[in-house]
Amino acid sequence: MGSLVTALASFCDIKQRGGLWFVRIDDIDPQRADPKGLEHIKKSLMAHGLSGDGPMDLQSHRQADYASARDRLADFCYFCNCSRKQLQGMSIYPGSCRHKRAFTADHAVRIEVDDERRLFLDQYKGECAFVASEHFGDFTIWRRDNLVTYHLATAYDDGLRHSHVLRGDDLFEMTAPQLYLMEKLGLRPPEYTHIPVLTFADGTKLSKQTHAPALSIMKPEVNLRNALRFLGQQPPNEQFTVGQWLEWAIRHWRLEAIPHTLAPFSQSDHQ
Ligand SMILES: [Zn+2]
Repeated sequence: MGSLVTALASFCDIKQRGGLWFVRIDDIDPQRADPKGLEHIKKSLMAHGLSGDGPMDLQSHRQADYASARDRLADFCYFCNCSRKQLQGMSIYPGSCRHKRAFTADHAVRIEVDDERRLFLDQYKGECAFVASEHFGDFTIWRRDNLVTYHLATAYDDGLRHSHVLRGDDLFEMTAPQLYLMEKLGLRPPEYTHIPVLTFADGTKLSKQTHAPALSIMKPEVNLRNALRFLGQQPPNEQFTVGQWLEWAIRHWRLEAIPHTLAPFSQSDHQ
């Protein structure tokens, strides 16, 4: 239900403006790749009428593009082989490897950040500010095991291809480092909207890790109505079809109606 709420919100928000909606799967880590999970996502989106305006984009197919993005950042980057143990307890990397500028295998690639104050506007949260050196410090754009990091892959894709990004507030912290990368890559950042995520009554986010029940596709119209209710959109008490619910949702969509804390999810909301 948590993913449906966010997917539906981003769908309505862009469709109301007459835009196109794209689905991207962030599957860059082969160790965490889950073909069954991917099939389930596809089926579930389809059952709820949420089909993208174009083929589903898989990040795992674009490693070569990410590698060229990494190379474009070379002037700002250095190689780091600090172990997890060495970094333990540090919230900000102290830059111990900044002198390692020549390519070295089995090293992660880190970007050196500055201490300029930057601003951005979030359509839901308002104006936000960050100072890279204070908020996150030098961060990894390429992993030691030769894979792109989530930050670089997402910054590159969003900056290159998307004009609007609406996602859950659990990803808000990712925005500043991603904006930093887009700036260094000369990409135009999208307009951001971060909305509250669905949680259990104790405040934990609904996810596979927290044993949220998998969304059933048996009654998608009921799920859509529930998702709209969580989003504060006040859906009418009607027996609409999936198509009618989406039509209603786009027509009546109000970002400002989303409550700052969504009503907690309970088992009775599960069909
Ligand atoms: Zn290091």
